[in-house]
Parts: sequence; C-alpha cells; structure tokens
Amino acid sequence: MKEILKGHIVHAPALGQLEIIEDGYLVLEDGVIAGIYSQLPGEHADGKMHDYGDRLILQSFADMHLHAPQYPMLGMGMDLPLLDWLDTYTFPVEARFADTEYARRVYRRLANELITNGTTRVCMFSSLHTDATWVLMEELEKAGVTGFVGKVNMDRNGKEGVYQETTEESVSETLRWLEGCHFDHVKPIITPRFTPTCSDELMAQLGKIAAEKGLYVQSHLSENRAEMAWVLELHPDCKQYWESYHKFGQWKDHTVMAHCVHSDASERRAMREHNVVVAHCADSNINISSGVCPVRQMLDEGIWVTLGSDIAGGQQLPMYRVITTTIRSSKVRQMMDDWKTPFLTVPEGYYLGTTAGHKYFGGGFAVGDALHAVVVDDGNFTESTRPLSINERFERALYMMEQRNIISVWSAGRCVVGR
Ligand SMILES: [Zn+2]
Repeated sequence: MKEILKGHIVHAPALGQLEIIEDGYLVLEDGVIAGIYSQLPGEHADGKMHDYGDRLILQSFADMHLHAPQYPMLGMGMDLPLLDWLDTYTFPVEARFADTEYARRVYRRLANELITNGTTRVCMFSSLHTDATWVLMEELEKAGVTGFVGKVNMDRNGKEGVYQETTEESVSETLRWLEGCHFDHVKPIITPRFTPTCSDELMAQLGKIAAEKGLYVQSHLSENRAEMAWVLELHPDCKQYWESYHKFGQWKDHTVMAHCVHSDASERRAMREHNVVVAHCADSNINISSGVCPVRQMLDEGIWVTLGSDIAGGQQLPMYRVITTTIRSSKVRQMMDDWKTPFLTVPEGYYLGTTAGHKYFGGGFAVGDALHAVVVDDGNFTESTRPLSINERFERALYMMEQRNIISVWSAGRCVVGR
C-alpha cells in the first residue's frame, strides 16, 4: 500500500547534520520509505494522504538502555551510590516480577508510556524471570515498540533467596526463554547484568549461547569507580573491566555497554576496535553521582555512541528530555575541562537519540528503511514575537514538548498512535 505523510520533515542523517524539508512529502510503500520530496511527484498522487499540515514530522527516538522492572521505582533512592542503590531498592523491586500478573500491569503501562512519547525502538533489560520477560516482550509488541529485550542473568552478589539464580538455573532458564521468543518486532538479546553478579562459569555459558545462536549482548561497563575496583578484584587476571567480558566472548560487534563513564583511552580503543556500542545515560550518571561522561571525546575517537534513559537510575522515559539532559551534561563536561571541550549541539544531541540508535537495528530515515517517526504539534507553545523557522521550531519542540504534543507515532512502517 502506498501512503504519504505531509508536513515539515526533520531528521539527522549524520552527526551534526540536520535535514529539513519544509512542507515536504514522505512517501511510503508498505511502510518502507520510498522517497522524501519537497514537491510530490505525479506518480505518487494516488497514495493515501496523511496531511499533518503545519506540524513537524521527526524521526522517532531509540532508547538504548533501560530496565523495565525498575519502572515502579522511578524517582526513588536517588541519594544512594550505585552499589547501595542496587541492594536497597533495585533487587527487591525486580524480585516482585516473579508475579506475572503484576508484571502484566506494569509492563502494559510502560509500553504505553514509551510509544506515546515516541520511543519506537529499545534495547532493554528485563528481570531474572523468564515468564515476566515474555510478558514484557508481548506488551511491547502489542503497543508497537520494537527492538531487543534481555532476560537478566545473575548467579552471585544479588540477594540470596530473594533475587538470585543458581548457575544451572540461569543457563537453563535462558535457554527456555529463548525457545519461547516468537515475536515479530521484539527480539532476544543476551544480558549478563554486569560482571560482579555473574560467575565465570555463567559468563562462559552466556558467551557460548550468544555465539551459537548469533545473538547480541548487552551489559554495563565502568559506570562507577567502586564498581570498577570490584571487577578487578574479582578478575585479577584482567587489567581492565572490558576484558572481563572479552575473555568470555561477549566483547564483540554490536555489544551494547551502558555508561562507560570512566573508560580510559585503552578501554575506549577496545570499544572502537570491536564495534562495541556505548549507551550513554546522562540522567542516571548525574542522579547517582557516577560521573560526567566524556561523550565529545568518544565521538572524536570514532566510537559509536547512543543514548539511554536508564530508568530507574534515570528518572524519566521521554527521550526528547534525555537528549536535552545529554546536551546539558556535555556543557558540564566543558566546564570541567576548563572550557576546552566543545559541548554537544542540538542537532548532535538529536542524532545520538535517534539515528545513532536506529542504526543498531538496521535502518534509519532513508529510502529503503521502515518508517520510525513522530508527528509533533507545537501549536500550544507560547506565541512567539515573530514567525519562527522550522529549525527554531524543532529546537523549541525538543526542549519544550510533552507527551500531549505527540499526535501520531509511526513504528516499523505502521501508524501505532494517532492517525
Ligand atoms: Zn543499567
């Protein structure tokens, strides 16, 4: 089926670049972008028209790191450092997801909040529970959120008797979970929580499963100094944190590592050489005082950086807010670096929260890609003193918009919110 979206089209094809097509036309063939035009070619005049008038059509957002079972604890425990925060709040809350009915209620609401805020692609952590993880995948699929979800693995340093698996359970449940993953748009990803919570035996098994089944891996890296010291204590044979993943075959192309705040030059080189993806989570890094990530430096070195809300270390899901926090955090970094490091511009922040993440799943906002877009109505913003350019309206929307401004969401070529 041929469909046409009409409005002001804005997307970021490359870092620092913004492409704006004022009063443009986006032509879809069966949900796949066939062309973007400033004037509609006659051959496409027969398509079904979605006329969004004076509104902005933006590429949708990709959240590359978040914890679904931490959704009920948003805004809690923010005065604790990472390791205490995990023990006091996170593990007991995640343990609650043994109850699949509770999981259903929470995950339905989470999926709805994601999609109505324009997050159409995710790379997400579930809990230890196989059944609740299927529930999560099902609810995402129903809402129109696409991407990867991982059943979390942890067989040590959790909360024994409350929230921890044996090594055997962790492996057999992972295999049972993979058997039952039959979703069109939500796929499994191997997810060791982080090195301190996974024994060598478990890490080896997970690396083997990922290799045999051709699955990607996601985990955490160099978020906090105490965590890094702990990893080196547990792995005296490793000089650096990343090696504790590498030695079990988990440090490879498309491995997503959340945070990487304190990764030094040689750890960063290992990321670039193996095409490991950084999920930078500015809200979380500031909330739990982990540090201010040197994102500009990573980008200059050619590292693949994406963004994550990291709820519930992060306190908010909407990626347009995560993008503006990322920009603010880069300005703090500039001040820390004696004003020597350039901060991230609005087009750069937008690129990281959209295109850089979409690329992970294969596709972006070009001909041949399934459409992932949001339609933003900025009509209720304060009246300006003069007519604004589309560029100015885009910047204002990124900083000011709320859920109610998103009137339509397209995910994998389908209109899943609005019309
Ligand atoms: Zn995390």
